[in-house]
Amino acid sequence: MSQSSLLSDEIADPAARRAQVLVPYPLSKAYDYLIPHNMDLRAGDYVRVPLGKRDTVGVVWTLDGKDDVDPARLKAVQQNFQFEPMPQTHRQFLEWVARYTMSDLGSVLKMSLSAPEALQPPKAVQAYTLPPSVPEQLPAARRKIITLLEDGLPRRAVDIARAIGCSATMIRSMADAGQLKTVPMSPPAPCQLDHLRPVPLTLVEHQATAAEALRTLCAAHQYSAVLLDGVTGSGKTEVYFEAVAETLRQGKQALILLPEISLSAQFLQRFERRFGVAPALWHSEVPAAQRRIAWTGVAEGRTKVVVGARSALFLPYQDLGLVIVDEEHDSSYKQEEGVLYNARDMAIVRARLGSFPVVLVSATPSLETMVNAQQGKYHYLHLPSRHAGAKMPDVHVINLKATPPERGRFISPPLQQALAETFAAGEQSLLFLNRRGYSPLTLCRTCGYRFQCPSCSAWLVEHRRFSRLQCHHCGFMQNVPKACPGCNDENSFAACGPGVERIQEEVQALFPEARTFILASDVITSPNMIRAAVRDIEEMRHDIIVGTQIIAKGHHFPNLTLVGVVDADLGLAGGDLRAGERTFQLLHQVSGRAGRAEKPGRVYMQTYMPEQGVIRALAKNDRDDFLAVESREREKAGMPPFGRLASLIISGPDEIKLDQFCRALAQRAPRYDDIRVLGPAAAPMAYLRGRHRRRFLIKAGKNIPLQKYLAEWLGTVKVPSALQMKTDIDPQSFF
Ligand code: ADP
Ligand code: ZN
Repeated sequence: MSQSSLLSDEIADPAARRAQVLVPYPLSKAYDYLIPHNMDLRAGDYVRVPLGKRDTVGVVWTLDGKDDVDPARLKAVQQNFQFEPMPQTHRQFLEWVARYTMSDLGSVLKMSLSAPEALQPPKAVQAYTLPPSVPEQLPAARRKIITLLEDGLPRRAVDIARAIGCSATMIRSMADAGQLKTVPMSPPAPCQLDHLRPVPLTLVEHQATAAEALRTLCAAHQYSAVLLDGVTGSGKTEVYFEAVAETLRQGKQALILLPEISLSAQFLQRFERRFGVAPALWHSEVPAAQRRIAWTGVAEGRTKVVVGARSALFLPYQDLGLVIVDEEHDSSYKQEEGVLYNARDMAIVRARLGSFPVVLVSATPSLETMVNAQQGKYHYLHLPSRHAGAKMPDVHVINLKATPPERGRFISPPLQQALAETFAAGEQSLLFLNRRGYSPLTLCRTCGYRFQCPSCSAWLVEHRRFSRLQCHHCGFMQNVPKACPGCNDENSFAACGPGVERIQEEVQALFPEARTFILASDVITSPNMIRAAVRDIEEMRHDIIVGTQIIAKGHHFPNLTLVGVVDADLGLAGGDLRAGERTFQLLHQVSGRAGRAEKPGRVYMQTYMPEQGVIRALAKNDRDDFLAVESREREKAGMPPFGRLASLIISGPDEIKLDQFCRALAQRAPRYDDIRVLGPAAAPMAYLRGRHRRRFLIKAGKNIPLQKYLAEWLGTVKVPSALQMKTDIDPQSFF
């Protein structure tokens, strides 16, 4: 039957069946489609539907909608993919996220349909089974393979090779000799229950108590939120692996969220050692073929553990029973484009809807999480010390006003001394500076000309290694000209301030024999390069590493005993609500790189503000005191977590029209007690990628329905097409 005849059949039937199908486009609701007579649909089914001139994959959202659209105007569902339907809990979750973030439901759905090819029948892979008759006389190694395959399950060469410890070549030559038979097979879902071989680990005192508490919560099949708090190296990962193991015993799926940058080979190897199989991996770098089988495995419920970045929360789990949010304080959990959501907060929502535990893990919990734990909203589990008695490093503050570096240099005499001692002892040092390139500003000594990005309110950063100037906001690049564009003078440029390249240059001048190395995202650009760099550091091929924050997380270098923070004040500038908190977290984490094994570590922090609260707290290693002070200040100011914030960013190419619109918008803001609208004001990045930017900050009491207020306000205005408006609930970034 052709599609048009299907359609006319439907039109003849006044009681034609309809489905409300949601499609992954910026639309706020599901639309009606006719269900052909010969098609059965359930809510949650993945279907193909016509959309405009094209067609698209969508999800049957409901089957009971009462729309009064004339059936003659409706199109029919083209195909049911015959896949496990998207669970109701997951659909509720997507609706919740859309409401909370004030995004279109279709845009939220798009985050779940993140591997649409997965709905097509999978491409077969080659697998091996036993032939009708197996030869009697075979060498022992080949006999082992035969024994493995006697259970009748076909396996891929890689899986046989891994199980037996033989080479893939041997398997192929057995097939050539007729000792094995090849058969096509669907690619197996990653991390299935029967592949898992958990290896138990003996936990010590506090670890055992915490693990027991988590196991009990996992077995309870109800919502709970837990903060697992403990210094780096205290065994938090080992403890939450116990919760994962318990979830697997319950037959449910577990998700471990990590900041993208920590999805390191080291972590995956550890997982594999503990569980005997690799987890399904999910982040932006995972190749399409692997995404496809991971998505299918998760949606069908066969894949039991996913380790992923924030987007992994949106996979359509068939039966999720646990979410771990490791490094819960990390700002990369906030997605800053498209749907603006915080994966940590949405993980809590997901756990509530799915009635299972969520575990937030950190050595430096966010203030939000800490306050929730103190108020009893979260269970609190604490691991007080490092495993196997490893000591926390000693932190020394270097007051740069008292012991400044030489002119034009950035490493002060005390830090230089510590570097010399460490190098002489045959140990490694890390110099931390969160700034890529050679220098953040280049100016002309003759006329004062400064190189600035043509599309952003930002200086161009010099990258001497690539001999060019670069904007770190939009990616604009240019070569360094011979003569100054302002006064035509030659050789008049001066670099102002350091980036990692400049620090490396200084270290090389100070220690010509030392092997130095830069670890920054523009130099180390792929997971393979990170792996190689980590191995080189572990194998002592570098003495002094100069790194940005990509080194701060996850890695463990047994011979690294000195950390020097080149500019501890860097993150404290600017008026960001969380500047202090972020700086504390980052510098604490960087400090944790020093001395994790038997060797004790030392940390030196260079600062012009030794009396600053954050620096003092770091020196005393007094996190709780710092959080208490920070908490009191936020409470006084009515700032999160004691009040609520939203921001509106409005941008456009024409500054005058932008300001006109913003003024009109401000006048329309409804007035209520306990809600304040601040702005419009120029955003700190007032010009970005060729667009001028203005922002409003909306500040409200803790229990004010902020979304409702914004809907009331913004519902009355039409944004001119040249302008763009973004609503950010619980903003993390204030640039
Ligand atoms: P965290 O996640 O708190 O940083 P980890 O779980 O990574 O701590 O533990 C730090 C190191 O100590 C890891 O190498 C881990 O394998 C080891 N470790 C922790 N607890 C134990 C234990 N009970 N037995 C053996 N090794 C342990
Ligand atoms: Zn730019």
